Order: sequence, then structure tokens, then C-alpha cells
Amino acid sequence: MDRVPGKKILIVEDSRLQAQIAADILSRHGYMTEIALTAEETLQKASGPECPDLILMDIDLGEGMDGTTLSRRIQQVKDIPVVFLTAISTREAVEQVRSVTRYGYVLKGAPEHVLVSTVEMALKLHEALSLAQMYRRIVEGSLTEVYIFHPDTLKFLAVNRGARENLGYTEEELLDMDIMQLMPEFDRERFRSLLAPLQQGEKEKIIFDAMHRRKDGSLYPVEAHLQLFGHGKDGIGVAFILDLTERRKMEEKLRQQGEFLQSLLAALPVGIFIIDPASHRIEEANLEAAAMIGAAPEEIAGRPCWEFFPQSAGSCPITVAKEEVDRSERLLRRKDGLEILVLKTVKRLRTDSGEKLVETFIDISERKHLEEELYRLSITDPLTGAYNRRYFLEMLEREIERTRRTGHPFALIMLDLDHFKGINDRFGHAAGDRVLKSLVAAFKERLRKTDCLARWGGEEFVILLPETGVEGAATLAEELRQKLSEMEIPGVGLVTASFGVTGYHPGDTVDAVTQRVDSALYRAKGNGRNCVCVGGPH
Ligand code: GH3
Ligand code: MG
Ligand code: MG
Repeated sequence: MDRVPGKKILIVEDSRLQAQIAADILSRHGYMTEIALTAEETLQKASGPECPDLILMDIDLGEGMDGTTLSRRIQQVKDIPVVFLTAISTREAVEQVRSVTRYGYVLKGAPEHVLVSTVEMALKLHEALSLAQMYRRIVEGSLTEVYIFHPDTLKFLAVNRGARENLGYTEEELLDMDIMQLMPEFDRERFRSLLAPLQQGEKEKIIFDAMHRRKDGSLYPVEAHLQLFGHGKDGIGVAFILDLTERRKMEEKLRQQGEFLQSLLAALPVGIFIIDPASHRIEEANLEAAAMIGAAPEEIAGRPCWEFFPQSAGSCPITVAKEEVDRSERLLRRKDGLEILVLKTVKRLRTDSGEKLVETFIDISERKHLEEELYRLSITDPLTGAYNRRYFLEMLEREIERTRRTGHPFALIMLDLDHFKGINDRFGHAAGDRVLKSLVAAFKERLRKTDCLARWGGEEFVILLPETGVEGAATLAEELRQKLSEMEIPGVGLVTASFGVTGYHPGDTVDAVTQRVDSALYRAKGNGRNCVCVGGPH
């Protein structure tokens, strides 16, 4: 037989001898015992802080006080299990005991093990009842709706506070209702088929979403958890119902936010890729990105990003060079193979769901063309298309530096149309313009790409010839002079020009070398025009 060490038993008996006998037996079985000989003593001990776990009570206490009355008075103060000791077991005596305690009785003089096992069973029963009471309180107090229902009739057997408060029904009203009245989407058939897997033992629990109806007719979304306990007519169904209103509101809010972000992404006039940094695969591409590439967003998702930005292959500035942000001009390869220049920004994005790369890009090919065109205009003469004087001087400055560094030669040719004023006067200014244009077109044809032909001003031109010595430049000048003099210009006829030539001499500045070539040209004019003069370092 199990011992229950430490449990305290109060023996209430007007006979000290009888009490001592019971106490000895219980002590031998590990119990702590106390004896009370009178009703007052019993009440005092039962209500004190050191109260017993069980009372073994003589039903006949003498002095006008019986055990059942005393037991009732104790129950009013404390929930202590009472086991009666009785000398008689008539039907009336047993009924009397049952009316005050559920823990039974022991006949006086019964064998020792009968007394001990009755006490032990009473203690266990009390423990189980206390536990059940505690669970009841927890369930009752829970704000989750809890329903206990009959699996066949689907009527409620018990409901908790959460259910009553959420629905607005009283307990009495609910105990007169069934599940279908709360779940208008279900009829009896449908609900029974829902329970079938539980009844057949295929599942322990089923969870489903449904709508619940309050007493006032309003509906709210719920998540229902159903379980069956026990079998047949003794079985019960338990439903835990979670109110999803708040969760749904949150989901709706998130959905709306998501939708807003999606439409924002779609509306932005910027190409956007969301990229997984580990694989560099594109997880999402917006409509603008798709339009720039000339493919559908679905075709782009899943591809590695350098399929579209081949220049960046293997050199991601964020994951390889560990930059936080990278902004660069890159070529975007379209689906049709064409490449367009874009300004691309890559940024690391840290979210709760991990790290992403966000790549945004705008088409700057148009802007680039414009920039290039503006630059071209800023360095050329609008009438002839030759470089302008400012650009020429920059080039010359650079060339002088280069020559100082490398020792490689360069030369200059300067030319001035002869009697140009007369041409204008005779044929008109437009004809004069044509002459200037024809000269530039013809000379460009002959010159190298690295040579720099510029309009020095009016009808004067200069040519910078890198990697060219003065003799070579003189030969070229002579060739150009001849070419020009043989050129028939519509509406004008033949024209000539005078040429000055010089080469770089150590220590030359821009001014020095241009003055020298100008002097050579002046000499050519003096020598009768339509000729070439070479200027040395004098
Ligand atoms: P020289 O042989 O001594 O160089 O005589 P020239 O008449 O060519 O020289 P001058 O300096 O007297 O005259 C230059 C003329 O060039 C004067 C000017 O009207 C003309 N001219 C300068 N720029 C342009 C231009 O852009 N278009 C036209 N049609 N004529 C120009
Ligand atoms: Mg002139
Ligand atoms: Mg002239």
C-alpha cells in the first residue's frame, strides 16, 4: 500500500482511547496525526493556519453534538475532506454520511488496511477534485471562447465567460442552443462531417476558420479548434474559438500596405530590382525595369542580375567590396541585346526577413547624348564644324606638356585665306561662308584623326599636328595649299590661302609657338600669298 508521508490527519473522537488507536495506525503508515476531543477544539484546528489535510470524524461525538453537523460547519470555513468513523452501517446511517461528505466512512473496528486505504482514497479524491476545480476556474476565466458540446446533438453542455462576453448571450441562453446557431455557415450535416475524422480517430484535433454570430446578429471571424474526449454517449466535444477580428484587421492593413507599395513600385519611373545578396538572383523587378529591358517582370525574376548588367559580373560593390551604397553609370543589356546607359544605385536593405539588395536605375542614354552634344558644341565652331580657338589652346597646352615629357615633336600650321574680303564683296557673305566650310571639309578629309583643325578667328585656321616634325608639317601645308588652290567652290571659283608652319622648340610656351607660326604666316602674305613659310626659333 502506498504511503502518503507528511499528510496531516485530524482525528475527532470523544473517546481518547479510540482516537489514540486510530492515530497509532495512521502514524505507522506515515501520516502525521492530531487528536481533537471536542467540537470547539476541532473547529479551532480546522480553521487555523496549520489545518489538517483530512479529518477522520466520529459520527457520534456525545454532548449533543453529532459529527455531521460539525462537518457542515467545517465545510463552511474550509474545504477539508471528512471521512467518518461510525459504529453502525444501517441504511439511515450511510445516507446520513453521504449527505455531508463524498469521502465515505469506516466502520469502527474495521481492519487496519480498511481504515488506511479509505483515508488514502479520500485524500486522492480530494486532490483530483481540487485540480478539476482549478482547471474549471482557468477555463471559465479565459477570454478564449470555450464550449463543451454534445457530439451528437451539438448542443452546449458548458460555456465559459469568454464565450458569454463575446457573444452577448447569458449562460442559460447558450445552454439551450447548439453550434449551428453560432456558426451560420454550417448546417448539422456539414458540421457532423467535419467531426467525422475526430470520431473515427483519424485526427486528434481539427482547426478551421469560420464566422461566428453574436446575439445582436453581427458576425466576426474566428479560428475554431475542435477536439473530442471520451466515446459514445459519454463523449464530449470541446471547441476553443479564437476571435480573429484583430488579426484580420492587421492582415488587411498589411495587405493594403503591400498593395500600396506594389503600386508605388509599378508607378515609379525608375527601374527597380530586389536581389538576393547570396545568389545575386533577381527576386522582383518592377514594371519600369521590365519596360527598359523589354521583357515581362516574370521573365526577369529568378535571373542573376549580371545577365542585365554584364559589367558588374563578379564585382558586386556591395557583397564583394563591402560598400553600403554604390552609384555608377552602367550599361543595361536589354532582352534584344541592345545596351542602354543607366545610372544605377545599389543599396543594402536590411529587413526582418533578411538582407536584400535594392538596385534602382534610370535611363541616362538620352541625357548622355545631350551632354555629349553640348560638349561638342562647346568645343567647335558652329559655322565650319572645326574646333574652336579655346579648345585648340587647351589641346596645344596639353601637347606642349606631353612633348616636354616625352620629347616627341609636334608642329603647327596657321593659314589665312587670301583677299577674302574681296570674295565677300564680290560674291556675298554667304558665298564667303561656303568657302570657309569647304576648306574645313576638304582639310578634314586629308588630316589624321589625332590632328586638331581649329578656326583661329575670321578666315584664319590653325592645325595642331602631334608626332610631326616641322619638315613633315611644311610638306603637309604645301599639300593643303595646293589642294585648296585647285578646289572649285560653287559660286566662287578658285581661292587661295597663305600658310605659316612651325615646330616645337624646347622652352616654348603657347604664346611663343603661336606667335612664331603667326609670323611665318605673315611672311607668307608678304611673299606674295598662296605660299608656305616655315618659322624657326628666332
Ligand atoms: P589678306 O589676303 O591680306 O588676308 O586679305 P583679306 O581680305 O583676306 O583680309 P582682311 O583681314 O582684310 O579681311 C578679312 C575678311 O574676312 C573680313 C571679313 O569680313 C571676312 N570674314 C571674317 N569672318 C568671316 C566669316 O565668318 N564669313 C565670311 N563670309 N567672311 C568673314
Ligand atoms: Mg585675316
Ligand atoms: Mg585673309
